Amino acid sequence: MSPMAESPQDRAAFLREELQRHERLYYLDAKPEISDRDFDRLMAELAEIEEEHPELRTADSPTQRVGGEPTEGFEQVEHEPPMLSLDNTYDHDELEEWVERLKRLLPDTEFEFICELKVDGVSLSLLYEAGVLTQAATRGNGRVGDLVTANARTIRTLPLRLPAAAPTRLLVRAETYMRRSAFAALNEQRAAAGQELYANPRNTTAGTVRQLDSRDVARRRLDVACYEWVQPADDDRERPSHGESLAALADLGLPVNDSWRRCKGLDEVVAFCDEWQEKRGDLDFEIDGVVVKVDDPDLRQRLGATAKAPRWAVAFKFEAEQAETVVRAINAQVGRTGAVTPVAELEPVLVAGTTVKRATLHNYEDLARKDVRVGDAVVIEKGGDIIPKVVSVFEERRGPESKPFAPPGECPVCDEKLYQPEEEALLRCVNAACPAVVREAIRHFASRNAMDIEGMGDWLVGELVGGGLVRDPADLYGLTVDELADLKKTNDARLGEKAAARTVASLAESRKERSLSRLIYALGIRFVGDSTASLLARRFRTVDGLAAASAEELEEVDEIGARIAESVRAFFDSERNQDLLRRLKEAGLEFEEDAAADDGADQPLEGKVFVLTGSLEGMTRNEAGARIKALGGKVTGSVSGKTDFLVAGEKAGSKLRKAEQLGVEVLDQAGLEELLGAGS
Ligand code: AMP
Ligand code: ZN
Repeated sequence: MSPMAESPQDRAAFLREELQRHERLYYLDAKPEISDRDFDRLMAELAEIEEEHPELRTADSPTQRVGGEPTEGFEQVEHEPPMLSLDNTYDHDELEEWVERLKRLLPDTEFEFICELKVDGVSLSLLYEAGVLTQAATRGNGRVGDLVTANARTIRTLPLRLPAAAPTRLLVRAETYMRRSAFAALNEQRAAAGQELYANPRNTTAGTVRQLDSRDVARRRLDVACYEWVQPADDDRERPSHGESLAALADLGLPVNDSWRRCKGLDEVVAFCDEWQEKRGDLDFEIDGVVVKVDDPDLRQRLGATAKAPRWAVAFKFEAEQAETVVRAINAQVGRTGAVTPVAELEPVLVAGTTVKRATLHNYEDLARKDVRVGDAVVIEKGGDIIPKVVSVFEERRGPESKPFAPPGECPVCDEKLYQPEEEALLRCVNAACPAVVREAIRHFASRNAMDIEGMGDWLVGELVGGGLVRDPADLYGLTVDELADLKKTNDARLGEKAAARTVASLAESRKERSLSRLIYALGIRFVGDSTASLLARRFRTVDGLAAASAEELEEVDEIGARIAESVRAFFDSERNQDLLRRLKEAGLEFEEDAAADDGADQPLEGKVFVLTGSLEGMTRNEAGARIKALGGKVTGSVSGKTDFLVAGEKAGSKLRKAEQLGVEVLDQAGLEELLGAGS
């Protein structure tokens, strides 16, 4: 809160301005000035004021972004002028015919065109009155659509209020869509929650726009692109050209896709279409073609429209990205983290100009759900992803010999028995020596929170693994200065003696100076992060003790559930991992916890549960958390009856209130430091 006594009204106005400015910086300029957390804090403060003083809540308040109460159904609104469709063309000849037709309608005219991307989403009509977004409607039947204003307000890139320069009434047509990245994230969440996956961003957008509960819409992260400034027929001020109006919309802060181009004739139009047909996969959103529009507003008026579509515009539709083919085989692919995924080898087929031979099946669970089998006729789709995917199967065309595909039992690279972690859709190769896994494993082993080996960066790890000098972490400790010094950094520069000697010295240091918990973490056991590693170190005290622990014994440790226990067991049951551990021990690594380190006297916060909130001076929350854990305390994310202390820094918010409600002891920074100091 600001130190001066500000009226809630002034404060709310100030917060609205600030939030709008930061939204612009973040979403439009991609130059944020404050962290997401600080942004959320401002938003929470505004929401709180509006909660207490509902009369201060405005239609353009950024709090409307998170959605409001669900509605029973949508109100209807008439489109004036109607939202027309577009005529389609599918090849260069049809484009040429369209241009010829324009020339017949208006002989002796030079046409200039604006070419735009045809974003594949759902169209919206947006109305700003006195600079404020007051209406958003779907196309509906073109004459009457659904009012989805609350839903549109949740679209972060869409300004709720325009700058003062905006006309008093502004009607804009736009396409709302979901970015591929947002769509992928959504499906990932759904997969994790065991829900059915959505088919594609377009259908998901269509479903989302018509959600009755705008809070659900807010969570989906839609985006929007404005493509048409609609000037009322009775407005006889001078009309800008279409290109000028796109620039003007962008100047008002409205999201306009800036890939549009003014084209002087058919050749330039064709070049634009071909260019984007080629580049469409590079975009983070799907486009299904290009829209070609006459630029001159007078020519547009003279051309007019049919009942269905304007004569001054046409869509150039891209070739379908789907094709039918046959699955020849289903192979397994091992990723860098040991994840094994199925890949369909296909009868080669031409899709949108390129030959496709392989398609990803995502994971074995997904494969089973779609029931893809060897020999199946399938539909594949080339989206923006590098590898096309199998969309659907023609089950009715199967022969009698068709049988469901069984996932592999062993790693195709190293023959290790594959392991399926509970609650995970992926199969994994847990063999630390699997070549596909080695590189990532070494990188993790050497990383800062693990063995902290200075000089062992991505480049060096790549060279060592690629050149066969290192096959597992134990090999690192056999490296000599000469071997390292000879590595070629560039064509004519070697790594050199100095750097090599430094790296060997830091390897030697890591051998003796790292704690048992770092070593356990460095092994890269699935689900064993650094805090789990320190729990395991404290409980089992030696690597051998940990390796010998049964799943039941592991689960007896606080915070360790069946999933982690199973993963730890699978790791130590692997013969190759047992060999790795033997060699690490021979290399002289510390396999036992320093007796002093877990002496009870050093754990004064043993069993105490902390929650951190707000900002601390001179240390990050991570650092504070690490110091608490070093003294045996536990840090969790949310305040509950089990919380012993809430550490509240500057600008603490809802967690502080909750702690006070629950009677949890609250520490300020001085209180925390006293507690931490007591342990040292
Ligand atoms: P169609 O749905 O095939 O009749 O194509 C017309 C639709 O394309 C419009 O209703 C818009 O939703 C959509 N569209 C996407 N991008 C544009 C654009 N740049 N200009 C005009 N319409 C577009
Ligand atoms: Zn393997």
